[in-house]
Amino acid sequence: MNDRDWTIARLRAAIVAKEVKAIDICDHFLNRIRTSKPELNAFTAVFEETARARAEEIDRQPNTWRDQPLLGVPIAVKDVICTRGTNTTGASRILSGFRPPYDATVVKRLQDAGAVIVGKTNCDEFAMGSSTEHSAYGPTHNPWSVAHTPGGSSGGSAAAVSARLCPASVASDTGGSIRQPAAFCGVVGLKPTYGRVSRYGLLAFASSLDQIGPMTLTVADAATVFQVIAGNDSFDATSVSLEVPDTESIFPGEIAGVRIGVPRPVLEGINDEVRQAFDIALETLVQRGGILVDIQLPHIEYAVPVYYLVAPAEASSNLARYDGVRYGFRAASKHDQADLQKMYERTRYEGFGPEVKRRIMLGTYALSAGYYDAYYLKAQRIRSLIKTDYEQAFQSVDAIAMPTTPEPAFQIGEHINDPLAMYLGDIFTVSANLTGLPALSVPAGFTSTRLPLGLQLMGRPFDEVTLLRIAEVYERESPWWQEHPFKQMS
Ligand code: GLN
Repeated sequence: MNDRDWTIARLRAAIVAKEVKAIDICDHFLNRIRTSKPELNAFTAVFEETARARAEEIDRQPNTWRDQPLLGVPIAVKDVICTRGTNTTGASRILSGFRPPYDATVVKRLQDAGAVIVGKTNCDEFAMGSSTEHSAYGPTHNPWSVAHTPGGSSGGSAAAVSARLCPASVASDTGGSIRQPAAFCGVVGLKPTYGRVSRYGLLAFASSLDQIGPMTLTVADAATVFQVIAGNDSFDATSVSLEVPDTESIFPGEIAGVRIGVPRPVLEGINDEVRQAFDIALETLVQRGGILVDIQLPHIEYAVPVYYLVAPAEASSNLARYDGVRYGFRAASKHDQADLQKMYERTRYEGFGPEVKRRIMLGTYALSAGYYDAYYLKAQRIRSLIKTDYEQAFQSVDAIAMPTTPEPAFQIGEHINDPLAMYLGDIFTVSANLTGLPALSVPAGFTSTRLPLGLQLMGRPFDEVTLLRIAEVYERESPWWQEHPFKQMS
């Protein structure tokens, strides 16, 4: 079996045509997860038994499953998304041993669509980070260069798809956690519009920013997974009841006359190779009939500081529930019985890693009496200005293009002691979360040292289809996904 080319589309066709069995596909990917070298540390748990049982069930009942869009497709789930009865840790010590009594809505929808859930993928603790270094399981490595990070927080999900350990994964994106690792690992990542996909069963990080979306090899595959997981859910009051667009019929698309906004001033000072790859990608879009329009996003320079006030503020509230009583880990020591307050303190002291503690402290500070107006409220006001910038831009364009990241993947350890440098790398991704807009990263070439780069497209609310269409046209012209990191891998 050729492990380079198993997209969802191909896999499903092969299973329906009975060219392969779901169990053989499942075993192929389980085998890759177990034996591929070098070790990437992309998974926190592998569900060998349940995945195989499920694949065998599909093979036994081919007709019942036939119309399912993810028939027999192995999919990995970021370890911040609940899977019933199996470890869901948020890559945090504080959730060690926690087994949720229910599946997240996205997991249920994937299963109902015929998917085989193969395991949970590594990430930054509670999805806080941009490198997957802040994980209780240790860092994930970038398949293109193991000395580099795969990005974060969904680094395990991106590395797993990039290294062909699974054809697709689902992950969460609060400030770029799907798109930035997608760019760093050379895969497609889509953050849908806020409200499009249910977050029921997602460990909440920042509830006004969190979204769940797919990571895949191709744009068409992202569309398929998106369509399966999107839609209203009575368990998530923020999920909208809009009809989910039919993404099957948009490919192959065309973009003649589509207006694409480019915020040129924002691009000053970014890495030269990122800039070159971006310019080439724009040329490709123009050749296909896209029309470039200069746009202004005057407040985007505040996006990072605004995000790093709003996200930690919400996180400090959301993470208050991890107290040693209700979930997972409790500090086992003499402190335990001595006094309840001490037990809470000790559990949180031992259970959370340094980045999560930093966020809780930042957020608590920003929300505290006397500082609330100066920090949190001000951040929310500037958030409104950023939103207005985008609303104005979308009066004259159909989509906005920029690089997904200002730099290519950095080395493991490079930014770990400099949180500010790490945070600044989120400049192009956080505004989609602050505004709720959909955004997608599609592979857009490589640096001279063969590190992948991403092109980001942002769209109007609930207009994921336009992003998918533009990205697919680009991908057809420049099929970077067909490159593979196996030079270093077996
Ligand atoms: N890198 C950002 C952060 O550290 C975004 C994380 C995310 O999207 N979950 O918060």
